Amino acid sequence: MRLLLIEDHERFANFVKDGLEKEGFTVDAVDTGGSGEDARATVQYDAIILDLGLPDTDGLNLLRSWRDAGDKTPVLILTARDGVDDRVRGLNSGGDDYLLKPFAMEELVARIRALLRRPGGVLGLVITAGNVSFDTTAREVQINDKTISIPRRELGVLEQLMRRAGRVVPKDVLEDKIYGFGKEVSSNSVEVHVSRLRKRLAGAGANVSVHTLRGVGYLLSEESTLNPQ
Ligand code: CA
Repeated sequence: MRLLLIEDHERFANFVKDGLEKEGFTVDAVDTGGSGEDARATVQYDAIILDLGLPDTDGLNLLRSWRDAGDKTPVLILTARDGVDDRVRGLNSGGDDYLLKPFAMEELVARIRALLRRPGGVLGLVITAGNVSFDTTAREVQINDKTISIPRRELGVLEQLMRRAGRVVPKDVLEDKIYGFGKEVSSNSVEVHVSRLRKRLAGAGANVSVHTLRGVGYLLSEESTLNPQ
């Protein structure tokens, strides 16, 4: 899950970004409305966390312009303003939810997950492929009803592959979803995660496997679909 955080208070932004990344989200943090627009132009975010008081614009103006342009990305508004008017204006401008600063990290995580689970949101609760099930809320994977532990980036790869099981997932889409901006992504790093994941799945008795389509991407399928004999 890739999130955009638009927040100009640096320490607060770092706190939010770290907290969300510990929960398995990939977070791009920017500190102006302008850089937020640049980020949105290159990445399709799963949700946006938007501060209202930004140095170059009012967050509500940004939000209104996105909604006017038909962008339905879920938006959680963060603000220190506590007036009922601001809350109403935020929701009227197309915000999906609203959180007043200060807040507990657990509260933010819960609200983000709730947004992603809404109709049109990307977060289904539990996804399954073959004998593998992935609880995207608990970030827990079970194979044949046994929980197995998977490191965070491999988990990100598995989630994307499971959400598109039976379809090709281009390599750059995987890179995009599991790394944020400003991180060096070595050219073979997705391959490394896929290869580890493949061994882990096989070792745990999964009846799905990850196929490499050289130069294109990856595909998760049940073994029986590719080997009908
Ligand atoms: Ca601010």
